[in-house]
Amino acid sequence: MPDASAPQPLVSPSLVGPLADARGRVKRKLRLSLTDRCNLRCLYCMPEHPHWLPKNTLLRQEELLRLARLFVAELGITDIRLTGGEPLLRRDLVAIVEQLNTLRPLGLQRIALTSNGVLLARHADALKAAGLDDLNISLDVRTPERFRALTGGEVQPVLEGIAAARAAGLSVKLNSVVIRGYNETEVLPLADWALAEGLTLRYIELMPLDGRGFWQRDKVVSEDEIVAALQARHPLQRLPRSEDPASYYQTESGQRIGIISTVSRPFCAQCDRVRVTATGTLFPCLFSETGPDLRSPLREGAGDAALMALIREGIWHKEAGYIAKPGYVERPITMHVLGG
Ligand code: SAM
Ligand code: SF4
Repeated sequence: MPDASAPQPLVSPSLVGPLADARGRVKRKLRLSLTDRCNLRCLYCMPEHPHWLPKNTLLRQEELLRLARLFVAELGITDIRLTGGEPLLRRDLVAIVEQLNTLRPLGLQRIALTSNGVLLARHADALKAAGLDDLNISLDVRTPERFRALTGGEVQPVLEGIAAARAAGLSVKLNSVVIRGYNETEVLPLADWALAEGLTLRYIELMPLDGRGFWQRDKVVSEDEIVAALQARHPLQRLPRSEDPASYYQTESGQRIGIISTVSRPFCAQCDRVRVTATGTLFPCLFSETGPDLRSPLREGAGDAALMALIREGIWHKEAGYIAKPGYVERPITMHVLGG
């Protein structure tokens, strides 16, 4: 296993072969943020008064597709996840998925989407038909008042979105960020419901990436605490770790529950991800302070070789990650722009 905290050798990235950083971590998964805009205001993600970026600074459909093609055909990316902000606010989302679907002969294996689910009911069939494989839907809590307090929105459309996605035949996983003082007492009721519905649920430890100083260490409910809460009703067996960022546990009936424990058990040493923000900045890591701008060269007519060199160089210098620098991340960009 590569050692993410090992000193970085002073050599340059290879100009051929799979995309890798100097610590030996090969990149297979790309997260493309489609927008900074959102129809919810989750306390742990959005600044209190978000200023939306000018529309002309967001990557256009053809720019997203050019980058996606390069990442797949030339740099070995096999999985693309669309995120945001709320990707369903992009009117061209279905068209983007359709276009990504044409990249399968070049090596693309999975097209995935992360959504808050609010607008999903009306788009689920079209997304399935366009070629979407996987859908992660955020649902921190099912109680309407608590959902409102955390996100500023209503839970009912999300529940309808989940039902529509399943009816459309999409593979659905639920994501729930657990926050002490907000929804930690709902860990067990949410699991009861998800297990009864046959849905895979993943809890997420609260990460220090919000735009309003919301994160505090004592708001983080750790993987061990989540497991202890679940064990009260569901005896769990820990499964061997895979390349998924979540640790998975199996219930006695054979169902799986995941926990993404970025804070208490960082997964940095095996990280195979790379991110492009809604404005086309390459972020090697969720916790990077910045990264190379890809939008300017794209708009100035850069050729494929120049773009690939920029990407390879940016990824090569990927930091060790949260494992080496834990704590609150002070930077101008927040989760809703970067893409969670
Ligand atoms: N709007 C979509 C959604 O909510 O699913 C996609 C974008 S959102 C930024 C992607 C994921 O990041 C969501 O599952 C959300 O819960 C998670 N997220 C946002 N801020 C977080 C934080 N501070 N800690 C942990 N997870 C966070
Ligand atoms: Fe919007 Fe998703 Fe952030 Fe919530 S987590 S504010 S739904 S982008």
